[in-house]
Amino acid sequence: MKKKVSYDAFWMPFTANRDFKANPRIINRAEGMYCYSDNGTQLLDATAGLWCVNAGHARQEIGEAMARQVAELDYSSPFNFGHDIGFEFAERLVEFTPTGLNKVFFTNSGSEAVESALKIALAYQRAKGNTTKFKLIGRELAYHGVNFGGLSVGGLTPNRTGFGPLLPADHLSHTLDVERNAFSKGLPEHGVEKAEQLEQLIQFHGAESVAAVIVEPISGAGGVILPPKGYLKRLREICDRHDVVLIFDEVITGWGRLGSPFAAQEFEVTPDLITSAKGITSGVVPLGAVFAKDEIYETVVNSAAEGSVEFYHGYTYSGHPVACAAGLATMDIYQREGLLERGRGEIGQYFADGLHSLKGIQSIVDIRNYGLIGAVQFAAPADGKPIGFDILKRCYDKGLLVRSMGNTIALSPPLIIEKSHVDQIIDTLAAVAKDIPA
Ligand code: PMP
Repeated sequence: MKKKVSYDAFWMPFTANRDFKANPRIINRAEGMYCYSDNGTQLLDATAGLWCVNAGHARQEIGEAMARQVAELDYSSPFNFGHDIGFEFAERLVEFTPTGLNKVFFTNSGSEAVESALKIALAYQRAKGNTTKFKLIGRELAYHGVNFGGLSVGGLTPNRTGFGPLLPADHLSHTLDVERNAFSKGLPEHGVEKAEQLEQLIQFHGAESVAAVIVEPISGAGGVILPPKGYLKRLREICDRHDVVLIFDEVITGWGRLGSPFAAQEFEVTPDLITSAKGITSGVVPLGAVFAKDEIYETVVNSAAEGSVEFYHGYTYSGHPVACAAGLATMDIYQREGLLERGRGEIGQYFADGLHSLKGIQSIVDIRNYGLIGAVQFAAPADGKPIGFDILKRCYDKGLLVRSMGNTIALSPPLIIEKSHVDQIIDTLAAVAKDIPA
């Protein structure tokens, strides 16, 4: 008999604890595309955990690589000392990054990758003598983690509320995208026109004060909102014009979610910095990274050597050897199984067609998708209470794990997904959606 464990001492992140206690959803086992609840119910994981388990659950070779690494070198300080597994992993990672982003700064999470990228951007501006450039620009509805830098550039109001003045940051508007492009397949139009907002914001604040712009190429936690055509390219041009660092937060969009290693390649726009986490170890162990252009690295590090700027930044576990071993094994799986390209292959198309087949169900007001990420948005209930969590619970009761945000359900299945899994996702969502009053 398995020992019954109490969860009284556990403070659950981001969750309505009262609801969880009334109706606990406990997952103690997972394998491949499936998780299993504590009573043994099989749950199809349409979310890859929290957009992270890209290679599918319980990949033994990742665990075995970690065990071998513990036996070889479990830990060594990343300050002043280095180790081969860290060097090897960094070299392997830059085989996947866009041309020119050849430097890797390791962190432990997406939130830390964001903080690190913002600080690198500020250090870079300072090192170039741009001493008045310190303002940051993010987007409405953006999620960049929960630390103070990420909250400052983030655009999800409930996350920011009550945490003081934060860093000096402004936000590009994002909210019209959904309404203007309901049910559009592929990328919506109006991107170039929309990106001009950045020019206006920079003019408003003064180019001499703006240091960096950070965007998720596709906003994940904000509701899977796609960039309209040409939007990211035009942001790049405007940043170049005003000597502003462009950061892509690819914590979700990286590692094959869209059908390329990174959204930067998919949308053919090269940012100055990319933040990464989640799929970098397929969720098995916490690890994040910032990928930086060579020029940024050279400028920050060289000027530090001259003593004009120091970049005192890093973590006890930056480039943890065991995490690097997990990451290398993850890259082996991605390459051997061709997982990073599946989003733009046959299965990506099947997923897209399945999702868009839900159009016409009364309660659904929009469907969005790119590669192996998708969202189904439901009509806002008359009482104003978001319905997403209710849908999540209904899906769970039918053996499907989805993510809820507001009135939207997000889908980001492991990249090992097959057609039968897509069918199960779509059939379940259709059944649930038909039970929801429009
Ligand atoms: N950036 C983005 C785009 C994210 O989606 C997330 C997490 N969902 C983060 C940053 C923060 O990552 P973490 O939870 O690993 O700190």
